[in-house]
Amino acid sequence: MSRFPIDPTSILIDLIRCPSVTPREAGALDALDAALAPLGFTVERPTFHEAGAADVENLFARRGSSGPHLVFAGHTDVVPPGEAGAWRFPPFAGEIADGALYGRGAVDMKGGIACFVAAVARIVDADGDLPGQVSLLITGDEEGPAVNGTVKLLDWARARGERFDACVVGEPTNPDAMGDMIKVGRRGSLSATLTVAGRQGHVAYPHLADNPVRGLVTLLDALMAEPLDAGSERFQPSNLEVTTIDVGNPSTNVIPAEAKAGFNIRFNDRWSVASLKAEIERRLAEAARDLRLRPGKDAPVRYDLVWRSPASDAFFTSDAPLTQTLSDAIEAVTGRRPALSTSGGTSDARFIKDHCPVVEFGLVGQTMHMVDECVALADLESLTRIYETFIRGWFRARA
Ligand SMILES: [Zn+2]
Repeated sequence: MSRFPIDPTSILIDLIRCPSVTPREAGALDALDAALAPLGFTVERPTFHEAGAADVENLFARRGSSGPHLVFAGHTDVVPPGEAGAWRFPPFAGEIADGALYGRGAVDMKGGIACFVAAVARIVDADGDLPGQVSLLITGDEEGPAVNGTVKLLDWARARGERFDACVVGEPTNPDAMGDMIKVGRRGSLSATLTVAGRQGHVAYPHLADNPVRGLVTLLDALMAEPLDAGSERFQPSNLEVTTIDVGNPSTNVIPAEAKAGFNIRFNDRWSVASLKAEIERRLAEAARDLRLRPGKDAPVRYDLVWRSPASDAFFTSDAPLTQTLSDAIEAVTGRRPALSTSGGTSDARFIKDHCPVVEFGLVGQTMHMVDECVALADLESLTRIYETFIRGWFRARA
């Protein structure tokens, strides 16, 4: 019998039983602390504050004091369970049935954390030590506003002199089965609110009014009509989606005074936040002069564009030893060579990439954020073996 928690399932059950819906810690960091301390990790738990947001507790654990430094990043917070009664088992019970463990956070991403801890435990158990420095950066604010989480934890670590050589984020990256996909980059994200000013009036007397909806339609058409690009070598095409159009006018005989729209752009490495903003502003300025929808008006559309934060640039991790060692580990365990992908939404990797090369690999994402979120016990074992093989391989490659 090992002295250490080398079984990812038991670690994961302890984590799932803590209802750590963002921003609540709910014992999840205590459970992780309890698993890490016997392995020789020094654990610290800084709480960060921000006006207008809930305080959030985070965890930084490090082991070793010299040699290359590998960091694992993740989050113990989870999204709300939704209607608990719709679940096969209570969402924070951590029940096992039919070869799977059920519970909120099973794949996103308490399961990834449990596998990494078990992987480290197996190496320490077998070898008595690790061949370098290993840390865990765990936030409790990933699924929420993300202001008191990874960004501040990275700054906090850097201020204390921590330097990382590579990072693995344990988010669920496999669409269907273990070994499908590593995320080696992410598209950028940029959002804005567009407001068009008009002049309120009677619909029967449009010459006395100025309908802002006409202007808004013209401007949105200009944003959507031409594709931003055709994609790049490593990324799919950039895409703009209008997310809302708001006029809020209940009447049928009043021309409204104002119309608003929101949009988000997911963009590739052909753009930076700055160059994309310039392109959008150019398209709007040009379209504002288009008077086709504004009969009788000889003035351009009056509008105001407000960029929303945070915006993030696209990034791509070209650290071959990192992606290759991880791909090799995945192939050794699953027999499959993973795709290297930049698809999907943003993640905390967008902040980590400013500190060290970062890739993402975790469990199968199919049930994340859903009722009956669950993970196959076989996948937990497989991910633990992948992480174990990867950790050994990564230090060997740097020796
Ligand atoms: Zn997640």
